[in-house]
Amino acid sequence: MARIGFIGLGNMGLPMAKNLLKAGHEVTGFDLSAAALEALQEAGGKAAEGARHAVIEAEAVVTALPAARHLKAVYLGGDGILAVAQPGTLFIDCSTVDVASARTVAMEAESRGQRFVDSPMSGGVGGATAGTLSFMVGGSEPAFEAARPILGAMGRNIFHAGAAGAGAAAKICNNLMLAIQMIAVAEGFNLAEKLGLEAQKLYDISSTATARCWSLNDYCPAPGPVPNAPSNRDYAPGFAAALMLKDLRIAMETAQAEGVSSPLGAQATQLYALMDLAGQGEKDFSGIIRLLRGEL
Ligand code: NAD
Repeated sequence: MARIGFIGLGNMGLPMAKNLLKAGHEVTGFDLSAAALEALQEAGGKAAEGARHAVIEAEAVVTALPAARHLKAVYLGGDGILAVAQPGTLFIDCSTVDVASARTVAMEAESRGQRFVDSPMSGGVGGATAGTLSFMVGGSEPAFEAARPILGAMGRNIFHAGAAGAGAAAKICNNLMLAIQMIAVAEGFNLAEKLGLEAQKLYDISSTATARCWSLNDYCPAPGPVPNAPSNRDYAPGFAAALMLKDLRIAMETAQAEGVSSPLGAQATQLYALMDLAGQGEKDFSGIIRLLRGEL
């Protein structure tokens, strides 16, 4: 069992850290939120005084931070965790960030004799809690093999996507598809309501027909058909709309830089931006159904 540092104990990070504890690892965590640190301690983990304290004695470090600027602030520079970690330490970053940021941190870690994999995840808070996340990993083969047992305590599907940055690339493409799918499903349920078709009936039909997808089958944005979906708890996240907007902006910047056409991605970005402007950024992204109904 490993001594693991864990930085970023938010909606995803805290249940992930708890699963590492359940698997018998020693976890020393840090978050800016005192409540998150308390929750980690209640689950049997140790609370560090700062990010650097969480990594000094760690063999492996997992990070689950909001965005690239947090990633760079935590890892890089004289105050960063790479500057104090032991050579050989394995860093596993599960945040969703752009490919260039993931590669920058990977190169800096390698230049210090440390190992880094970008390992963004999919599966939401439900998957983080159940330990059934999917991880898409970018990095060298040996670093991937070293990360695999740790990721295995937090997830079920662990893919080696390729060299450094490939995990970040896979995640951005996945979330571009997810964001568009969620809007499509919401539009279908809104039209069904106007037509007097019950949400449950549409769900029963479409979840087994050609429209089936995760946004419909597992995370239905209309209340009712999927009891544990955020739609049944006033769209408490889950996966916050502000984070989806962040991912879409990364996808659109990347698509533009690569000369790739993504008209629905552009439209989806605008819709999630409107949801955010309406003060709903902290709500689950499936709450986009309310924006489309004109309720926000
Ligand atoms: P979150 O905002 O709930 O958690 C992030 C945590 O990082 C917060 O607790 C925050 O206090 C902490 N943090 C920020 N800066 C810090 C610093 N300098 N030092 C220590 N802690 C710091 O976000 P989340 O939903 O847990 O998502 C984390 C990452 O995973 C994001 O990149 C997100 O895009 C991605 N993701 C989220 C989901 C989801 O369903 N929530 C699914 C897949 C991927």
